[in-house]
Amino acid sequence: MHLEYKKSQFFLCRLQKKKLFFVFDFDGTLAPIVSDPNKAYMRPVTQRLLEKLGKQTQVGIISGRSLSDLKKRITSKLDLISGTHGLESPFSTTKEYKEYEMFFKELQKALKEMFPEFSYEKKTIGFTLHYRNIQDYQELVSSVLELLNAFPELKIIKGKKVLNILPNRPHNKGWVMQKLLEQNPETYFFYIGDDTTDEDVFCIQDERLVSIRIGKSIKSSALLYINNQKGIDNFLSDIIFFIKGIM
Ligand SMILES: [Mg+2]
Repeated sequence: MHLEYKKSQFFLCRLQKKKLFFVFDFDGTLAPIVSDPNKAYMRPVTQRLLEKLGKQTQVGIISGRSLSDLKKRITSKLDLISGTHGLESPFSTTKEYKEYEMFFKELQKALKEMFPEFSYEKKTIGFTLHYRNIQDYQELVSSVLELLNAFPELKIIKGKKVLNILPNRPHNKGWVMQKLLEQNPETYFFYIGDDTTDEDVFCIQDERLVSIRIGKSIKSSALLYINNQKGIDNFLSDIIFFIKGIM
């Protein structure tokens, strides 16, 4: 089903008097995608609306960014914050990944020498290769993937012009959402994301979860969509207005 969220009032109507929890991805969802990922921030209006929503109901963020990076970009209080594609969350500890530290350090160093064209973003665990600013990246990406596929201890998550190189563990954004659903049996969740990594949440079949994609895509498992990233502001305003009406 691919419904523009505005045409989905029935979803909202069944949620009256229910505990609600809104969970967002960051890049491409709350913040516009920019060519330099270091410069990705929410528009001030988005920031204000998110803060307002946080005063009405539970709000969280699950992102591919590391937790420390994410915290620099968000000023409002959140009920959940999860980084590095679910590897950092209240449901797991980074101590579990200490054994990988040296391996990733050396791997990143070796790749930097072999493939200086990529820009490298270190995560708390693992790292990300960015190729948004490389014009003919196909061959380069195939070569690096061929090399990385030889390591069974790695999990490679492809995103929008990025390759996330992480430990081969079951954690992803869907894993965190499953934990949230399990631990909050009375709560109804909304999850809003824009990328392939968000499909791990979109594909969860649970009547307490409404998934929303930024941008329509027939390949996506999300139930609803918002036309584009700018639409997040209207979505937030609508939700704030709706919650005010039912509280
Ligand atoms: Mg995203």
